[in-house]
Amino acid sequence: MIVMKFGGTSVESAAAMERLAGIVRSRIAQRPIVVVSAMGKTTNRLLEAAQLAVNGQRNEALEKVETLRAYHHAEADRFGASELIEEHFQELTELVRGLAILGELTPRSIDAISSFGERLSSRIVALVLGAKHIDSRTVVVTDERHTQAAPFYAETNERLQKIEWGEISVMGGFIGATLNGVTSTLGRGGSDFTASIVGAGVGAEEIQIWTDVDGMLTCDPTVLPGGRRVKSISFAEAAELAYFGAKVLHPSTVVPAIEKNIPVLILNSRRPEVAGTRITAEGPKSKAVAKSIACKKSITLVNIQSTRMLMAHGFLKRIFEIFDRYETSVDMIATSEVSVSLTIDNASRLDTIRRELEEFAEVESEQDKAIVCLVGDNIRWQSGVAHRVFRALENVNVRMISQGASLRNLSVVVAQSDLREAVECLHREFFTDVDPEVFG
Ligand code: ASP
Repeated sequence: MIVMKFGGTSVESAAAMERLAGIVRSRIAQRPIVVVSAMGKTTNRLLEAAQLAVNGQRNEALEKVETLRAYHHAEADRFGASELIEEHFQELTELVRGLAILGELTPRSIDAISSFGERLSSRIVALVLGAKHIDSRTVVVTDERHTQAAPFYAETNERLQKIEWGEISVMGGFIGATLNGVTSTLGRGGSDFTASIVGAGVGAEEIQIWTDVDGMLTCDPTVLPGGRRVKSISFAEAAELAYFGAKVLHPSTVVPAIEKNIPVLILNSRRPEVAGTRITAEGPKSKAVAKSIACKKSITLVNIQSTRMLMAHGFLKRIFEIFDRYETSVDMIATSEVSVSLTIDNASRLDTIRRELEEFAEVESEQDKAIVCLVGDNIRWQSGVAHRVFRALENVNVRMISQGASLRNLSVVVAQSDLREAVECLHREFFTDVDPEVFG
């Protein structure tokens, strides 16, 4: 068996669903379990409607629901889904009216509403494919932390074992239910998680995540076009890249699959002939130092200096407590005896943070910076990597450096205006002559 997960863009229209059907049918010998997201941006629209309803904007909320209803009809009536859509939207409309009366939005009612996208898309896709529909709420058992629920694996796996799968089966991603049968969701973007939970639970041969990109690339295409496709990558490398803004998938969602040694593939539903990126626990045997260059734009660099830090303890604690209090996450850090440099990507509360820091330190901040991060398992084993990085970046002003925390990443901070040049120079250095087994 294989699990095939299709994200919002891969089910956003009739044409997309037909493409999906072609792809799934070509894999029928592997008894696919298809996991789908809500159509297009449906989840966002549902959450907006819920918010409008409780804010006293009942009519606007109902208008949003109407727009969604028309969208689903326009794209899916041709598959015979008209009645199905009506039933779901009647229930949804009642829910939204109820919320407008109550004027209160609990996590539990957020889940009741946001689950509609996948409840409906999975039924529609099952129709398109003539496949067996399995209601995820009868299978994925979760705790009661609505909107961020965690699966109970033992119970879920037991239920997965008992299912009589069809030749093709379809399930909604993202949704589940508590032990009491109340609808819950696994958190935004949760369909990848569903795919991984189901794949691990049934012992699938592989889990395919179908998206709208060719897989992971050797560089961010919005910074530097023309990167190569990474054919094969270790889970740890993929996780590192995901953190640095390669938004292909959230690493925590594939953990159940990786723990069972099930490969996860990233594939493009618009170009199914491309072999995508294969993520495995161990990764490929490769001589290449790096697998990819990741970037994070719009970074703020904060330099904190204090002579009081010399030989004192508890100084870093004081600094990080302040960032914690203002819920500002710190990405890179470098320290010397009397100073700390760090980067943040959300500077909205920097003024307040700064005022508090200035009670015991001098603070300077620099905006419009970018992190450039060379990622690869082999960075830790090979000597001379830093030399090659700095030689490649000889014409770029490097503001901060970090290597070591994960051993598989070497990161530098540069001015955003130098970002493209930095990526281009590093790409030339590390990806000109590489192993064709690993790079496209
Ligand atoms: N539809 C959900 C979301 O937009 C889950 C998913 O697509 O993975 O967050």
